[in-house]
Amino acid sequence: MKPMSVLIKPVSGNCDMKCAYCFYRDEQTHRNVSSFGMMNDRTIKNVLRKVILHSAGVCSIAFQGGEPTLAGIDFFLRTVSYAKRFNRNNIRIDYALQTNGLNINEQWCRFFKENHFLVGLSIDGTREIHDKYRRTVSGHGTFSQTAKAAEVFDRHGVAYNILTVVHRELAARTDEVYTFYKNRGWHYQQYIVFLFEIH
Ligand code: SF4
Repeated sequence: MKPMSVLIKPVSGNCDMKCAYCFYRDEQTHRNVSSFGMMNDRTIKNVLRKVILHSAGVCSIAFQGGEPTLAGIDFFLRTVSYAKRFNRNNIRIDYALQTNGLNINEQWCRFFKENHFLVGLSIDGTREIHDKYRRTVSGHGTFSQTAKAAEVFDRHGVAYNILTVVHRELAARTDEVYTFYKNRGWHYQQYIVFLFEIH
């Protein structure tokens, strides 16, 4: 047996945002079943049981979307309790979750902190750049809400990093973006390169 990692998408590609370069939204429009809806308890139990019982030493469980927090905090409370139940070999379980930050509140932060989640928060540069590309379904910029999520994380001591999509416009302003992040105290950063034209 080896350490294992699993990536879980509890709400399929569903999301409360409509970013200009969302790969998943595009993917959904091109497949036979656009959304598989919310993962049921039977499926999450099956996944956890198999992955935890077949892992040696450590098991990494990551949640992505769409926006995984749309599954609701009760789904995650149940998930963590199932994982504990299946962890008969007492291995280390590392949790991670990627979020756009819109639903983050004190309750989520307590949950992340108590269960040692590493959270990735999607922020794409300064307010000006972020709001141009990362919008709600109704077309409003989301920087204020996302930056507020970072503040709540800081208050609760949640471990998080900033995940940034580097597209042509942002790539031309990396000094400005890096300084902006540094001044905000966002020292843990990840970058993914966007290779296509944004329409
Ligand atoms: S937050 Fe993520 S999943 Fe949602 S629209 Fe933006 S890129 Fe897509």
